[in-house]
Amino acid sequence: MQVVVAEHAGFCFGVKRSIELVTRAVESGGPLSTLGPLIHSPQEVERLESVGVKVASCLDEAAGSKVVMPSHGVAEQTLRQAELMCMDIIDATCPYVAKVHRTVRELAKAGFQVVVVGDPGHSEVKGILSAAGPGAVAIASPEEAAEREWTGKVGMVAQTTQTAERFQEIANVIRRTAEDVRAMNTICVATRQRQEAANDVAPEVDVMFVIGGRNSANTNRLRELCEAAGVPTYHIETAAEIRDEWLEGKRVAGITAGASTPDWLIEEVKERLEKV
Ligand code: SF4
Repeated sequence: MQVVVAEHAGFCFGVKRSIELVTRAVESGGPLSTLGPLIHSPQEVERLESVGVKVASCLDEAAGSKVVMPSHGVAEQTLRQAELMCMDIIDATCPYVAKVHRTVRELAKAGFQVVVVGDPGHSEVKGILSAAGPGAVAIASPEEAAEREWTGKVGMVAQTTQTAERFQEIANVIRRTAEDVRAMNTICVATRQRQEAANDVAPEVDVMFVIGGRNSANTNRLRELCEAAGVPTYHIETAAEIRDEWLEGKRVAGITAGASTPDWLIEEVKERLEKV
């Protein structure tokens, strides 16, 4: 089977940086924990665990070890709490996420009602909301935006992994009634590149594989985009999940992968498909 891998797929700058920081910390020795999974790839998290990196569900659980803040950031209170506990902190928050935190702080200070376009249950969004302070809200869809009455000054940012279309749709709804809307498109370049590259490949192939954690927001967006292109699309975490019947009658397969997906997982899927 012919296999086409999207030009931009897999680890982004922020994720690579967090893995490098952790790798260096492992080499320097001593107990090491990440606060929650470092990235949204269960397989890569498992690999890190195999070299001694524990996943702590709270700061207390990480007590006595160096603690790594994950690439999608944490709530301000969590960072303060870790400092109060005198923990040895390695802040692997992606600089792009940190920039969104700075942006919402400035918007809130300038009197804007802060709106974060994104999934309210995602830890990145929780971190951004906590940086913005009281009154900030997360909005996931244009329908949800339409349920509210928007007035005064509204400052918008996006979870870094949102699609530009959704951000725009929500901005359009808010603009109907709010007096002054400042829409700061904070979708990260890596996300855009992966989405555009997936859009280039999907219409050209018979079947599309999107590799990445089921808990990875940007991988789920890639799946949605490929499905929208009308091609049979399968979201998988590993090559072992691929079923023969998905490949019947197909000549060309496309591959894309979320920003938390390591190269070794992409390579395994590619090899599995090339054998067909
Ligand atoms: S997707 Fe973008 S914002 Fe998120 S970790 Fe990667 S580079 Fe940073």
